[in-house]
Amino acid sequence: MSEMDRACPRTGLAWDEKFMWHNTGKGGGLIEAGGWIEPYEHNEHPDAKRRIKNLMDASELTERLIPIKSRLATEEELCFYHTPEYVARVREGSKGVGGIAGPFAPYGTDSFEIACRSAGALLETVDHVLDGKVDNAYALLRPPGHHALPDMGLGGCIFNNIVIAAHYARHVRKVPRVAILDYDVHQGNGAQLAFYSDPSVLTISLHQRGWYTLGGEIAERGEGLGEGANINVPLPSGSGDGAYLAAFERVVLPALRRFKPDLILVAAGYDGAAFDLTSSMIISTDAFRKMAEMLVEVAAETCGGRMILEHEGGYNPWATPFSVLATVEALCGVNTGIEDPYMVLIKDSPDHQLLPHQDEVINQVQAAFDL
Ligand SMILES: [Zn+2]
Repeated sequence: MSEMDRACPRTGLAWDEKFMWHNTGKGGGLIEAGGWIEPYEHNEHPDAKRRIKNLMDASELTERLIPIKSRLATEEELCFYHTPEYVARVREGSKGVGGIAGPFAPYGTDSFEIACRSAGALLETVDHVLDGKVDNAYALLRPPGHHALPDMGLGGCIFNNIVIAAHYARHVRKVPRVAILDYDVHQGNGAQLAFYSDPSVLTISLHQRGWYTLGGEIAERGEGLGEGANINVPLPSGSGDGAYLAAFERVVLPALRRFKPDLILVAAGYDGAAFDLTSSMIISTDAFRKMAEMLVEVAAETCGGRMILEHEGGYNPWATPFSVLATVEALCGVNTGIEDPYMVLIKDSPDHQLLPHQDEVINQVQAAFDL
């Protein structure tokens, strides 16, 4: 092992083949098929995520990572956030052919166990990081979780993995301050709801403004003791590398430095990428890599590097694997030498510059939160 390798963080990878067996059935992309929509794939089908793992394996990046085995989250752990009635409904439905957990959140036979495994894998990852078995980690989870509400699933999400993990870190592992950053293109509504009045959990969401009508306006800034601890950055349609990197430099990093978390959890979504079907953003793989590098740096400064990225959206089976590969490379400090072959198509777009109407939104957030 070279000196350089020794200096690299020990990065964990949470993964379970069973995640891919969660069956969302046929759909119409993000919504249900029906009416004039001929049944096709549901967006949350396994291919994009399986191909991420395949690329990590083929590039030999996986073998540079420390495997973290999943476990089943208990019903008590699910009920840190969810109602017992909702948990029971999914449990019972999974014994049959499945059902609909909530709007645009179908599930199949055995999905309850798989969703418990997805949530439990993140809890196991929290333990690994807090116990020093790894320095940081990527949890390649499925089903995703960040939209799930206490009493229903939403947008492909069954149980809210990141909210349950933040609660676990705070109240079971007694971590004083947890920061949640969500860069999925859809707003991190679950974390905002769960910790809206909690000053010990900073929640930051970067998302496409008014997309899927999940809220996420600048004025939604927390309440009571949590006032000022919920930061929304609602970026305009068309935002790319310039807007996202500026939002990181001018909002995300200063907010994390000011908050001084003991653990950083990141809802890592890749559906703001240029080739994703579900948004109008144009983030490149280079920007995802830079965002991860900035997070590694701020985690080292504020909390000894203790950071977990957990996977949310990202639905392009061809392109998403390259963005995640770059992210994980940044986490572990390993360069596979693999370039994103899709970059050539977008790298010269002038819209990757920070444009004035995007700059204005970031200015407004900075002013609202004194950043
Ligand atoms: Zn999303």
